[in-house]
Amino acid sequence: KTTVKSDIEIAQKSTMKPIVEIANKVGLGEDDLELFGKYKAKISNEALVKIKTKDSGKIILVTSINPTPAGEGKSTITVGLGDAFNRIGKKVMIAMREPSLGPTMGIKGGATGGGYSQVLPMEDINLHFTGDLHAITTANNALAALLDNHIQQGNELQIDQRQIVWKRAVDLNDRVLRKVIIGLGGPLQGVPREDGFDITVASEIMAVLCLASDLKDLKLRLSRMVIAYNYKKEPVTVGDLGVEGALTLILKEAVKPNLVQTIEHTPALVHGGPFANIAHGCNSVIATLTASKLADYVITEAGFGADLGAEKFLHIKSRSAGIKPEAVVIVATIRALKMHGGVPKAELSQENIPALTLGFANLQKHIETIKSFGLPIVVAINKFITDTDQEVNTLLEWCNRENVPAVLTEVWEKGGEGGIELAEMLLKVIEEEENKFYPLYDISDSIDKKVRIIVQKVYGGKDVEFSQKAKKQLIEFEQFGWSNLAVCMAKSQYSLSDDPTKLGRPVDFTVTVREFKPSIGAGFIVALTGEVMTMPGLPKKPAALNMDVDENGNAIGLF
Ligand code: ADP
Repeated sequence: KTTVKSDIEIAQKSTMKPIVEIANKVGLGEDDLELFGKYKAKISNEALVKIKTKDSGKIILVTSINPTPAGEGKSTITVGLGDAFNRIGKKVMIAMREPSLGPTMGIKGGATGGGYSQVLPMEDINLHFTGDLHAITTANNALAALLDNHIQQGNELQIDQRQIVWKRAVDLNDRVLRKVIIGLGGPLQGVPREDGFDITVASEIMAVLCLASDLKDLKLRLSRMVIAYNYKKEPVTVGDLGVEGALTLILKEAVKPNLVQTIEHTPALVHGGPFANIAHGCNSVIATLTASKLADYVITEAGFGADLGAEKFLHIKSRSAGIKPEAVVIVATIRALKMHGGVPKAELSQENIPALTLGFANLQKHIETIKSFGLPIVVAINKFITDTDQEVNTLLEWCNRENVPAVLTEVWEKGGEGGIELAEMLLKVIEEEENKFYPLYDISDSIDKKVRIIVQKVYGGKDVEFSQKAKKQLIEFEQFGWSNLAVCMAKSQYSLSDDPTKLGRPVDFTVTVREFKPSIGAGFIVALTGEVMTMPGLPKKPAALNMDVDENGNAIGLF
């Protein structure tokens, strides 16, 4: 029996090249970089300005079917596909999200790819990296401190302490901080009130940083963020508090994209990682656009399945940044499709053609959705060692009958070599197929219409129901002038519907919007369906229990 090496073992056995050499591949010199040691660098402001006038390369989006607890391998395919483009001689760059520390301590599932398709140095990227998350945490909490101080010093803005919506943040899974009381101890210790913490990646500042086009735009977006309501029930913004300049200052380094490399030395920008439910779940616009200026092909990903990640990439990020993707890769695994066909997790390693075939319905919906955006598609089957030939062939034949190009990829096992066929198929599709990219809703549509369009066209649902609270908010938001913003759906990632137990392709369902949450700085209105956890907890046996570091500083037990 062959033993499978863990992601960290593979990562640690790989040799990196100096980051300056990696930068040279895309025309950047040492002067264009701000080095963080030998293998990580930020791209300097001067370089970012210098490349602005260059032609843009082609952007390829990687998304997937509805995820299952198995993990579909979007990041793995993103990295492996970048390596494959590199191997066939194309100038390519990867743009992906930077991980949050909280989940790394909690449950398995790194965010730097897997197997032989990883970005390096994986330990650093999964821990403190270049300090972006620290900067975002600090900006978030500086704002909270300034807000409470404003109240302490006389509350000129007449902020209603019972209606403060800005929370504190920390980049850890720490459930006891979800709800806290602050300001206890008398007049000198501030005004007591109920508060709470979110995990840093759920802070609106993360979404803002990821959608900002430059420092100026960042400041403008920060100034628009709503932090509270006053006694007249009107929104109070960062601009009203007058601290957008200070917050931008705290973030001035964090906006610069981080350059690293894959195991095969393909350049990758790893920058920004907002939540994929209450935010849009994509790496920063600055990273994606920078990659497109530096390379002919950019491989980028969006969180969760195509119903959330791709929909938000196409409606929120693309609109905001003026991005037009050339093609979309939909990642599917035999295991996940079997799960959508009704197989429990424990039995996923056994061949099961009937269940697999039933599970195709989920993939089919996502194919239809991406086609309705007018975009060319390739299905990438992420091969697991437990997949049987018959299962793989059944899926390939089904795709063939559906007239969708599909390729088996083995990037996890073989690195870029295992993705060459996928890269070649993409080049062919980009060249031959017409790309008529258009959004499914118009930004001037009303908020409820935008939600309905997403539910019906992207999820395949029958209708939307709005709670009394949501209906009331729609009227208020209209008065505040917030109707012409994008909608950001916070829905279960596991199902096309808002019920996580409905796998496959549910039909005839209604989605209930419980509440809306304005993220005016980011530029979207979040529609909350189920309960959304913005401060995760740790599991019974946290991954941290297996972590260690040896006397030479090598990490042990990171995923
Ligand atoms: P996603 O981006 O969809 O969340 P990742 O690419 O991060 O998924 O992969 C999740 C986990 O699954 C990683 O630990 C990775 O090593 C593992 N994985 C991905 N593809 C494969 C594969 N083909 N075989 C075995 N493990 C895989």
